[in-house]
Amino acid sequence: MNNIYSLCGSCENKVLLGNKGANLVTMTKLGFPVPPGFVISIDAYEQYKKTGDLPDGEIEHFIAYLEGEVGQRLGDGLEVSVRSTAPISMPGMMDTLLNVRNINHIKAAVRQVFDSWDSPRANEYRKVNNIPSDLGTAAIVQAMVFGNKDSNSGTGVTFTRNPSTGEKGLFGEYLAQAQGEEIVSGARTPEPVATLQSRMPDVYAELERATSRLEAYYRDMQDVEFTIESGKLYILQTRSGKRSGQAAVKIAVDMVNENVITPQEALLRVTHKDLQALLHRQIKSPEQYEAITTGLNAAPGAASGRVVFDILEAVSLHEKNIPVILVRPETSPDDIQGIVASDGILTEKGGLTSHAAIVTRAMGKPCICGAADIAINLEAEQFEVKGQVVDKGAEITIDGTTGKVYLGMLPLEEVTLTEDAQRLIGWADGFKHLGVMANADTPEMIARAIRFGAEGIGLCRTERMFNEPERLAVVRDFILAEKSAQKKKAMEQLREFQQEGFVALFKELQGAPIVIRLLDMPLHEFLPSRRATRKTRVRERIADLEEVNPMLGHRGIRLAVTHPEIYKMQIEAVKQAMAEVEADVSIMIPQVITSQEVLLVKSWLKDTGIKLGIMIETVRACLRAGKLAYLVDFFSFGTNDLTQAVYSFSREDAEKKFLTTYLEAGILKDNPFQVIDVKGVGRLMETAIFWARRAKRDIKISVCGEQAGEARSIRFFNGIGVDNVSCSPFRIQAAKLVAAQAAIKTKSNAEREGLTKTLLD
Ligand code: PEP
Ligand code: MG
Repeated sequence: MNNIYSLCGSCENKVLLGNKGANLVTMTKLGFPVPPGFVISIDAYEQYKKTGDLPDGEIEHFIAYLEGEVGQRLGDGLEVSVRSTAPISMPGMMDTLLNVRNINHIKAAVRQVFDSWDSPRANEYRKVNNIPSDLGTAAIVQAMVFGNKDSNSGTGVTFTRNPSTGEKGLFGEYLAQAQGEEIVSGARTPEPVATLQSRMPDVYAELERATSRLEAYYRDMQDVEFTIESGKLYILQTRSGKRSGQAAVKIAVDMVNENVITPQEALLRVTHKDLQALLHRQIKSPEQYEAITTGLNAAPGAASGRVVFDILEAVSLHEKNIPVILVRPETSPDDIQGIVASDGILTEKGGLTSHAAIVTRAMGKPCICGAADIAINLEAEQFEVKGQVVDKGAEITIDGTTGKVYLGMLPLEEVTLTEDAQRLIGWADGFKHLGVMANADTPEMIARAIRFGAEGIGLCRTERMFNEPERLAVVRDFILAEKSAQKKKAMEQLREFQQEGFVALFKELQGAPIVIRLLDMPLHEFLPSRRATRKTRVRERIADLEEVNPMLGHRGIRLAVTHPEIYKMQIEAVKQAMAEVEADVSIMIPQVITSQEVLLVKSWLKDTGIKLGIMIETVRACLRAGKLAYLVDFFSFGTNDLTQAVYSFSREDAEKKFLTTYLEAGILKDNPFQVIDVKGVGRLMETAIFWARRAKRDIKISVCGEQAGEARSIRFFNGIGVDNVSCSPFRIQAAKLVAAQAAIKTKSNAEREGLTKTLLD
């Protein structure tokens, strides 16, 4: 068996030689100035792990070959380095030995490198980066070149493009009269690589030529290590360079412009996280600061401001242009004014689908929920975290992308979508099959969604339209009315508000379609908490409406069955608004379980010409999808409620009570309220889609729960025949990217299968 491969051989297999080893063989083959050497393969590593033996004879043979290449004997002019080379690069995690001068030391060094695969830091790195622990490593034995030999020597690391901005051109560091580890250890401060241009112009020009050839060969930005020995350039390593989100987008788009890669490849090289990172403000150099606590990263972006506990105080500070972080045990529709006035929200309770999370995510406002370590004392207007008291007015910074809370106003960076990012999204639009719509319920959100490229509004939650204090007061009048005349009057006022609201929404649509969901929220959520009121009538009514399980209770279509006037009023308001402003409107019913409910609403819609759809968010609706499909134009999976129903986990409470522990203990791999549970909820969705399409081939199927904006979930939805996803406006571009990637990959798989089939035929 071949255990060892020469760098000037033809084997470029990463599985045998590791990443670095395979790249060195390629570079040698292409004529790059690579010091001679050989790779002791991963097969040899596996043998060593089993038996403790190295292929001694082969090593001796290859050392003799190396001595012949260099023209010097080991220990008498020739020294070698021994480095690790794994199939997936693990920078700095394993051992490197330099200046090895003796064959028995060569062998001990190889053992050390092989053993370092199991070092605690390598194990930890693999765990964090999901690298399988059984891949193993090979070892490179290479003739040393000396960057510390004389004044014409040195060493450096350079990227072919700036890894932070993506700007083309060499970007890196150089240290004169030094060896590579001196840069890595930080013992001496290197200079920018550009300084080499004036010191050794010929070598610099050669470095530029070599690195641009490497980039052209690998068709990607490269991170190259080099050494100069007495004026002669050697390339020691090349690999695709790690880069920021901004750089990833710019490099991908530039490479298409340079005809290096195709738009499809550009789309596959950028991750949704790269795009997402471009859209929100972020803390500048967060690694410099220590967080006081960490909660759930409910809505991305960073914000700084003064701690405020009271809604009206938030509003008053906002009016004075003072930035505010609203800190509450949890939020409710009552708090909306305060949320609007605040720069960021921090809550002690609540999960990723809690009110605060959904509302702020849709607004693009940073939010941390369920920061269980903080104990809020509303009376004293302070919170305590790990023994530290933070008073009202103190300045804090929250990072909703990571869930971390910091003391003080940390410097933040503004980010906007660059022209390059917009170009990339344009390509995504051309390749994807999934429609990408937005969940939005105010004119501002609709305007933003359309600006961000939403193809329509897939979910407008009408209860949110009653959030303004004036409107909320009328909803309360309706709920509290004792006489039918009072009820009627309140209902008429609500219709006017609702109509006005729809007109304002329709004006922002610019021709895009909108799906209006009729009222879903239990009525008691419109009332203040019992403790917050002394009025007897209000207290009685709250008691009347109280339910043990409100989320499984009197909400959605069930409200309309008992109070038909509510949905009738909403339908009338939609009709009137459509008469004022032309709009492509569909109506959607939440919480459906049976066709009888749908027939009821259908009878109220008669002759309006408005399209009708239902939310599929109960288990029964999934199982009765065939029957339901006959009655409607579209389905929209409400995967928040459907997940709640399938798991019997309360979407309001699960995270703070036990779900976090489940995740930490690995009992559940992902939070099903964030990432679709393919094996349970997903299976049910597939069943529903199967029966629905059997009943009505062209029925449109959407998903509008929180998972509709999450990358892995979007891939799954794409695969099971969903037509549209509808998510927060801030997730639109990332969703489009993922949808395009899924379509490109499916196409290339299909092409590959087609090719195999042709070959077999
Ligand atoms: C859902 O249940 O997934 C949904 C979108 O509706 P809501 O979150 O308003 O209950
Ligand atoms: Mg729902």
